[in-house]
This record gives sequence, structure tokens and C-alpha cells, in this order.
Amino acid sequence: LTAEEQAVLDEIEEQNVDFLRLQFTDILGVVKNVSVPAHQAEKAFTEGIYFDGSSIEGFVRIQESDMRLVPDPDTFAVLPWRSDGSGDSGAARLICDIVDTDGEPFAGGPRQVLKSVLEEAEEMGYSVSIGPEPEFFLFEKDEDGNATTIPHDNGGYFDLAPKDLASDVRKEIIFTLEKMGFEIEASHHEVAEGQHEINFKYDDALSTADNIATFRAVVRAVAEQHDLHATFMPKPIADINGSGMHSHISLFDEDGNNAFADDSDEFNLSETAYEFMGGILNHAPAFTAVTNPTVNSYKRLVPGYEAPIYVAWSDTNRSALVRVPDAAGVSARFEVRSPDPSCNPYLGMASLIAAGLDGIKTGADPGDPVREDIYEFDDAKREEYGIETLPPNLGAAVEELETDEVLQEALGPHTSEKFAEAKSQEFSEYLTQVSQWEEDRYLETF
Ligand code: GLN
Ligand code: MG
Ligand code: MG
Ligand code: MG
Repeated sequence: LTAEEQAVLDEIEEQNVDFLRLQFTDILGVVKNVSVPAHQAEKAFTEGIYFDGSSIEGFVRIQESDMRLVPDPDTFAVLPWRSDGSGDSGAARLICDIVDTDGEPFAGGPRQVLKSVLEEAEEMGYSVSIGPEPEFFLFEKDEDGNATTIPHDNGGYFDLAPKDLASDVRKEIIFTLEKMGFEIEASHHEVAEGQHEINFKYDDALSTADNIATFRAVVRAVAEQHDLHATFMPKPIADINGSGMHSHISLFDEDGNNAFADDSDEFNLSETAYEFMGGILNHAPAFTAVTNPTVNSYKRLVPGYEAPIYVAWSDTNRSALVRVPDAAGVSARFEVRSPDPSCNPYLGMASLIAAGLDGIKTGADPGDPVREDIYEFDDAKREEYGIETLPPNLGAAVEELETDEVLQEALGPHTSEKFAEAKSQEFSEYLTQVSQWEEDRYLETF
């Protein structure tokens, strides 16, 4: 065992942990758990724990299903809501890498996909920092315990109690996250009723992806304890703001300096930052399939609700895909505003980074910032400015992904194929449905 692995065994002993949840995500970003008694920890580190990979969405065929979970000791955390506080028993989780029958890292595992992209960044001399801003709704449950879309409160942006009834729940979510090692930077009521945002500190991209997966689990678990349903569904209610997951990106060089910073620039950004941004804009139509992977994601990407539709950047304008906040030096960065919190965080981050790195390799140019409200532009003006739009729906996004070689390569043949297959199917199924809107509009008209 490594020193880190031994330290985990000691912690398990010290904190009376009985059960370990070995956690990973399938390609759709759904968190999966295999529970093992804590005394299996040593075996998990040395040999891995076998599981049937064929029963996981997008992994392998039945004949090659013997896969192993190998926990990353860095990710050990006691689950506060599973411990009774008496110190008698508890549960902890470990996030796992997936190893195939031959003992090789499984290239189709989302965490491995991100690791491979980060290795490429490292070869280019960079480590990648990402700070996410996941938004979510808290909804009431009905008498049968099923989720509704009735907001838990009727506060608005940055409202305080007593209107912001949910601030107690939010406080408890934050408290739980802090117990699990999160550094919370800010939290506030969002624009829509029942909508919230909690920002945690930026970290290296792999830790951030792990944190997003953990964050979603914590929010859901704490809400559940208050008899509420937390959802990261991107647009649960029509005609009000949806939930995004703005992602703030910067690169650090080998000396630990922010490679995106240049104080002599009007926006404090370096040539490297602009090239990375250019890559983001160039590949945005394709990575949207990954960062906005549900049918519902595209109901959020419409004009008027602070979500982007247009492939452009700005310093002021929240209708643009990329916004440069007023920050310099170590904080110099930009914010990609399109991702939503239903994405697989590993594949989402991997796609953004691969797009940006390609921008550096090709010397991509993001063009001039757009200062006007692009929501107000007509087609002619958009054409004049050369502004493209994001794909209008999941089907179109998958088509973009299938023709983008840079992203195909970043995801690897296994994941890109399985992902496109699953998402095309999801979209086809959606197209055959008859919605309430259609019934309301046509049933009595024709
Ligand atoms: N909810 C908005 C979105 O969909 C963002 C609002 C904000 O953070 N200012 O992206
Ligand atoms: Mg924010
Ligand atoms: Mg927000
Ligand atoms: Mg933001």
C-alpha cells in the first residue's frame, strides 16, 4: 500500500467506518455506487473490486464484462448524512478509476477520459483549473413523496429571509459540503423561484469533476432529509430561468503562474488565453452535445434567460457564450456559460479542455468582444458580425459532435461512439412523444 492508501485505512479505523461506497459515473453522468464492507478497503486498493461492466450504461459488451473498481485514495470522504454522530458507525465514499480485465485503465471510463486530456495539457506544459457554478431548484414533494415543480419558496435573486425560506436548507447543504472538505466561496438565491447557486472553490479539473459529482449527491441527500426534491434538470419550468453550470477556466504553467494572465491587456488576458478561448468558440457546437446532454438542456438555451445561444465572447454581456470577469493576475480567467449541471462532469470538463487546447495548438482567434445584447440582434446583424448559434436541439448537437475530430479524439472511440448512440436514441424517442403543448394548441383547433 502507498502511504496515502494506508492513511485511508487508518481513517476508516479511527472514524468507525463500516461501509465504503465505491463511486463512479456511467457515460451519462449518473453516479453509480458499489457498497463494500470497510474491511475490503485493502483489497480494493491492491486488487480492485470486480463488478459487472456490462450492466453499466455505455461501458462494455457482456463478453468482456469483468471490470474492476480501483479507488483513488485522494477522494476518501466520510458521508456526514450517513453517520449518526455517535461515532459508532459510519459510511464513507471513495471515487474509483475503472480497470479492465487486463489490468489496464479502461479507456471508456469518464474519469479516465478526463485524465487523458489532462495528460495532454501537461505535455503542453499546463495544469487546468476550473471553478464551476452549479445551479439547482428545490421543489416540494406531493403527498405520495413524488417530486413536483412547485418551488419551495418565492424568493428572487439574492433575496434574504424570510422570503428565502430555503436558506436553512442551503446552510445545511453548505455545512455538509464543508464537512466533506469543500471550500465554499458563496451561495445565493438565484433569479427564479426555488432556484439556488452554491459556488465552491476552483481546483484542478479532475478534483473539480469529482466535486461536481459529490456536490450533486450532497444537495440531493440534504434536500431529501427536508422532504424536498433538489433537481439539476436544466429547465424544469418553462418561461423562467433554467439551471446552468458556468465554468471558470484558467491554465497554470509549470512555475505555478497563471498562463491566462497579462496585465498589459485590456481584459488582463494573455495570448494563450485568447487562443484557448478561440478553441472553445470553434468547437462549441460540438461540445454542446456533451456539456448540454439532455433534450431538456436545449429548452434552457433560448433567448431571454441569461443562458447563451450565440457563439461569441464578451466582458459585459451575459448573452454571450464566454464572458470575461473583471479579474487579473492569479485570478485572470474566463467563464464558459453554456454547460448545464445535467452533464457528466468528467466528459464535460474533458470536452471544454480539449477544445481549448486545440485552440492553443492551432493559434485560434476568438475575434472581437461583442458588447451589445446579442439577444436583440436580427439574422442580418448576426451574419454581419459572423456570430454562429449553438445547436438548437440534442439531435443537431450530436450531429455536430460526430463531425468534430478533435472532440472525437478527446473522448476516444469507445466513449464518443457509445455517447452518440445513446443520445441519438434519446432524441428519437423524444421526437415521437406528444406533448401537453401540442394537445393544448391543436386538439380543439383541428
Ligand atoms: N440561470 C442562468 C443560466 O441558465 C444563469 C444566471 C446567472 O448566474 N446570472 O445560465
Ligand atoms: Mg454565479
Ligand atoms: Mg448563477
Ligand atoms: Mg457565473
